[in-house]
Amino acid sequence: MKKSNTEKKLIEGAGVRKGVDYLNGLKDDREIWLHGERVKDVTEHDGLKRSAETLAGFMDKQTDPEYQDKVTFELNEKRIATSFLVAKSKDDVIKRGEAFYEWAKWSNGMFGRTPDYKNASITAFYGGAELLEEGGKEFANNMRNYYHYAATNDKILTHSLLNPTVNFELSKQGKSDKDVSLKVVKENDAGIFVSGARLLATLGPQADEVEVFPSTLLNRQKGSDLEYAFAFVAPVASPGLRMICRDTYDHAKSHYDAPLSSRYEEMDAVVIFKNVFVPWERVFIYREPDLCNRAFAQNNAVTQMMHQVVCGKLAKAEFIVGLLCAMAKASGKDKDMAIKGLIAEAMFMTETLRSLRFYAEQNAHKDEYGTYIPLRRPLDTSRNLFPKMYPRLIELVQILGSSSLMATPSERDLTNEIADDVSQYFQLQNLQSKERIALFRLAHDLSVSGFGGRQTLYERYFFGPPNVMHSIYFDLYNKDEMIERVDNLLNEA
Ligand SMILES: Cc1cc2nc3c(=O)[nH]c(=O)nc-3n(C[C@H](O)[C@H](O)[C@H](O)COP(=O)(O)OP(=O)(O)OC[C@H]3O[C@@H](n4cnc5c(N)ncnc54)[C@H](O)[C@@H]3O)c2cc1C
Repeated sequence: MKKSNTEKKLIEGAGVRKGVDYLNGLKDDREIWLHGERVKDVTEHDGLKRSAETLAGFMDKQTDPEYQDKVTFELNEKRIATSFLVAKSKDDVIKRGEAFYEWAKWSNGMFGRTPDYKNASITAFYGGAELLEEGGKEFANNMRNYYHYAATNDKILTHSLLNPTVNFELSKQGKSDKDVSLKVVKENDAGIFVSGARLLATLGPQADEVEVFPSTLLNRQKGSDLEYAFAFVAPVASPGLRMICRDTYDHAKSHYDAPLSSRYEEMDAVVIFKNVFVPWERVFIYREPDLCNRAFAQNNAVTQMMHQVVCGKLAKAEFIVGLLCAMAKASGKDKDMAIKGLIAEAMFMTETLRSLRFYAEQNAHKDEYGTYIPLRRPLDTSRNLFPKMYPRLIELVQILGSSSLMATPSERDLTNEIADDVSQYFQLQNLQSKERIALFRLAHDLSVSGFGGRQTLYERYFFGPPNVMHSIYFDLYNKDEMIERVDNLLNEA
């Protein structure tokens, strides 16, 4: 076994990339399976290409003078995404928050896996690389080198943190399934070989690399199942790496007909590894179950990622408030007290997220590795609340939209032989038919379509199983003083 790797094999790039370079990078040998066929070229596939193009457009904004200073910073004379900034002050934390929020506004939060999400995790692992020295100095150095590689090449990462659940009782005990879970099957001087499956790579087919890190939720047992305890990053195009996708929700409709799914269809895929080779320089934890359990929390990657998440969810909730207001105004319902009350509920949620973000950023503090991080508790509160808020936000869109969500003829009906009917019978007090249909097609795409259903599932689960996260929150909550007050009252003579 040769784990040491003093040689720097990951070559640094020139800084932020142009969208066209990202798209060209997807034209590799990646093995993506969708609708029963192997995808020849992600950038040409009807179900995948438009979201990649959307992302390419976002990448171009990084060099647009209007956004550049907000979403990038200078590191060693290169322009780097702000999400890679290792915060050395409260102002840096706020700057990171502004960049997260800016990225999220570009898709109004519909694109969950913009690159800043995983950049936040890599940056935290870099800032706290010292922790990885527990497994050997070379692993910490690998992480430091990988950070510079990812940042200067502006890589887009997805992640697959979980083993598929085969037997719930066993997975609850932190045990892996030997036939299914991803494990190391061989190692040599150059690296490790892994086989098995991982869940669930959002944006996987449209990403450059897949972070295969240890979810803290796996609760591994000390000293056992060593071959399942690792952290590495592999290119999506690694030989033997296969992604098996769900159905696509981009049905090649126009932006008018499908305003969200025609733009933001980030695919989800189960990742299968068949003897995939991972060179040592891409390995960061190896045969360390205990370190796997602790890593995300101890180096504050979970907090840094929650910071990106609260900014994104704020942008999404704001957009839904805007949509509800536009829907109500269209028919004059916005003057009705009950309708106002309904929309105010969405406003309460939005303002809760804004306050939690503000509280977390204003209470930024130095962690044990010298990096400034936002306060965890408000962020943790938001990540536990939003999976409950989002289904209610969508319910509000359905309640307010009602049959208007079905009164949605297609763009072609505006010009074909039924166009006169469409023009006459689909108007509302404050909107002509064409604009009314466009508005309610948007509401439909968000709250009724396959794309919309997947968004709701995503918000429920993407950060982990809710009851497990609630239980972690309970454990971390500082409740002693509150309990003491109850005891004091009960003990009063
Ligand atoms: C749209 C979507 C996108 C996603 N994208 C990603 C991604 O990009 N990367 C990634 O790594 N993951 C991703 N996930 C996976 C996500 O992390 C998991 O769905 C989530 O952690 C739940 O795990 P599971 O799906 O295996 O469900 P299960 O673990 O089978 O959980 C199902 C139910 O059982 C409960 N449960 C689970 N464990 C326990 C326990 N120990 N005790 C009691 N109850 C329990 C859960 O709360 C849940 O209600 C995504 C999921 C979705 C739906």
